Amino acid sequence: MTAEQHNSQQPPSLWLRMWQPFLNLSVYGKFVLVLTSFLAGFILVGLHNLYFVNTLKIRLAQLQASPTETTIREAIHAADLYLQNGAFLVAAIMVFLIITSFLCVRMMVGLLQDMSNNLRAVRNSTGESLSCQVLESVPIISDDEIGLVAREVNGIINDIQNIQRFRRIIEGDETTTDVYKRLAYVFKERLGLNTFVIWEVNKGDDSIEAVYTSPPDFEEEICQMSTPYLCRAVRTGDIVSSSGYPGICPIFPLPDVMTHSCVPMIVGGQILGVVQFLFLYVNSAEREEHFKSSLRRARQYLNEALPVLHAKRLAQNLHQMAVRDTLTGLYNRRFLEGNINPILSGIQRRESSMAILMCDMDFFKRVNDEYGHEAGDMVLKTLAHILQNSVRTSDLVIRYGGEEFLILLVDCNPDGLALQVAEKIRKKVEDQQFRIEGGVLRKTLSIGISQFPSDTAAFWEAVKFADVALYQAKEKGRNQVIRFESSMWETEDY
Ligand code: GH3
Ligand code: MG
Ligand code: MG
Repeated sequence: MTAEQHNSQQPPSLWLRMWQPFLNLSVYGKFVLVLTSFLAGFILVGLHNLYFVNTLKIRLAQLQASPTETTIREAIHAADLYLQNGAFLVAAIMVFLIITSFLCVRMMVGLLQDMSNNLRAVRNSTGESLSCQVLESVPIISDDEIGLVAREVNGIINDIQNIQRFRRIIEGDETTTDVYKRLAYVFKERLGLNTFVIWEVNKGDDSIEAVYTSPPDFEEEICQMSTPYLCRAVRTGDIVSSSGYPGICPIFPLPDVMTHSCVPMIVGGQILGVVQFLFLYVNSAEREEHFKSSLRRARQYLNEALPVLHAKRLAQNLHQMAVRDTLTGLYNRRFLEGNINPILSGIQRRESSMAILMCDMDFFKRVNDEYGHEAGDMVLKTLAHILQNSVRTSDLVIRYGGEEFLILLVDCNPDGLALQVAEKIRKKVEDQQFRIEGGVLRKTLSIGISQFPSDTAAFWEAVKFADVALYQAKEKGRNQVIRFESSMWETEDY
């Protein structure tokens, strides 16, 4: 039994234990034993009859010598006695053999019926409608061929139950990352597959990314791919195995050390990713067979995970579409509204602070008016790129409005740092040659800064303060950075 099979069997009863040596015989063994018992019974009856006939012959000889009434009665009595004993012996042997054979056949038939019920339940199920309660492990009472079949049936049922449980659990998982982790757990802990890489293919931006590597330090040894089409499994949509075909995939970096089996994850003709299983070269047919059998089971789990992964990716993409701006790829205001609370809690917990930079391109309308909307779009894309590349990955850049961008510099201490970052951005934009169709443009950027929570502990008020500072920057001639001051809010009427 494998580790994942749970043992639902009761300890055997005394009756069963008495029978155990017999039950453990193979079916042939049982047949020979029953046949031998029949033969032994008949020999016993035959010997008894011989003995009876011989004793009767002696009695008749005695009777012939002195035929008195007493000797005749004695002879008849002896004959009766032997007849009774013989009949009893035959009956006892027959009853014993009939009961033994009946019990034996009943046990086997019961086992076969249990198995056939389970198999029928599996056959009638569609996979989704099959409930785990329908299937119960068959009690294994013998070690003969039927016991072996029962063990195999139990193994299959356990696999089905485990896979069903796995599917129900991953359906409840929130993200594809959770599903990948769950798959990785099954590969490692249940199937003994310890070296593998889960690749995720993104057709949208033509990328392939290793989303799970086991063991983690194996990361440096994995395939290097700039596009998914370098992966043979992605290209062909087929399993690519180097077992028996070394060098089948030219980009595999360890052809002399390991064999690989790359299983594409395909749903409805769309490739979601590839799971690359790796296996150290060891000259052992037994280990290779074990690896292949684990792989077969890994593919069963993968097949269950595919529709779930597909659905979760669609949901994630939809969510991304809702919270990202399609022109620049930056987060939008909706994302900010939905995600700001945990960011603020983190800042408060760390007793840190956050700078808020409200950025607005100067005279952007003129780009549209003079060069057209498309040129305006190109300028906005370039600006978004500059902003994103000017801050840390932990900071947030948001397209707040048309040509207004909000930057949150998380954990921005001390106060003066925000001014330096904003000034760096302003300078970058000033120096940038914005490429548009038919030439280049120069634009400038105005930035207003406020600090959370030192200016105000209310986040949206801090955003307003940054906007107030931006207005001041515009007022003072544009292309500059202005830090919010409390006097600006008191004197202005917004
Ligand atoms: P100021 O220096 O005062 O900020 O002047 P401005 O021209 O930049 O400001 P204004 O708010 O008058 O104009 C913003 C323009 O941005 C108006 C709008 O047509 C344009 N815009 C907003 N979103 C987009 C967009 O997605 N693409 C393009 N091409 N233009 C956009
Ligand atoms: Mg503007
Ligand atoms: Mg504006």
